[in-house]
This record gives sequence, C-alpha cells and structure tokens, in this order.
Amino acid sequence: MNDDRIEPAEAAIRESLLQHKAELEKRVRIIHEHARDPLDADSSEQAAQLGNVAVVTALETEAKEELAAIDAALQRLAAGTYGDCISCGEPISTERLKARPASLECLDCAELRQAR
Ligand SMILES: [Zn+2]
Repeated sequence: MNDDRIEPAEAAIRESLLQHKAELEKRVRIIHEHARDPLDADSSEQAAQLGNVAVVTALETEAKEELAAIDAALQRLAAGTYGDCISCGEPISTERLKARPASLECLDCAELRQAR
C-alpha cells in the first residue's frame, strides 16, 4: 500500500469536515439564541412557540449527531481507517463520501440501520 498517494485527498476531506463542523457549531449557537427567547403570553402564540421548541430541539439533536459523526470521521482520518464502514468493514463508496464526508457506514449498512 502506498499511503502517500491518498494524502492530498485526505487533506481535502479534513478541510471539508472542519468546514462542515464550523457551520454546524454556528447553527447550534443560533438555535440556542432562539431557544432563549421568552415565550409569548398569548396562548396561540405560545402554542406556536412550543411547536418551534420541538423543531429547535430536533434541529439541535440532528446538528449534534452530525457533529459527533464529523469528530468520529476526523479521528478515523487520523487513524487511517477513514472510508471503511464501521459496521461491515467494507470501503464506503466515493460518491457517498463525497455527498456526506462524515459517513461512517456504507450505504447498505446505513439503509439496514434505518430500516430497523
Ligand atoms: Zn457496511
């Protein structure tokens, strides 16, 4: 195996992961700022805002899960195991990694997990 060959690609992947991470961290900050807004006294407004809280919580959970996946991908990049599926060990397709650089599973395993 010639590891040097894949180094420029690794640098690009790391760069795009870090960029995505920064965007997500910014998004979580914005979500927190909105979540701090006091509820309006008007009941219909309150209901709408409580609905927003649920959406905000879902968005935050999603962003945090993605952040965790990015951190895991960065660690795997450093360890040299990036691009291998964490479930079956097969290489994840290049198209999938391009679309979602933080992917930890191949498409087959991700679909199986979602179907559970
Ligand atoms: Zn797999």
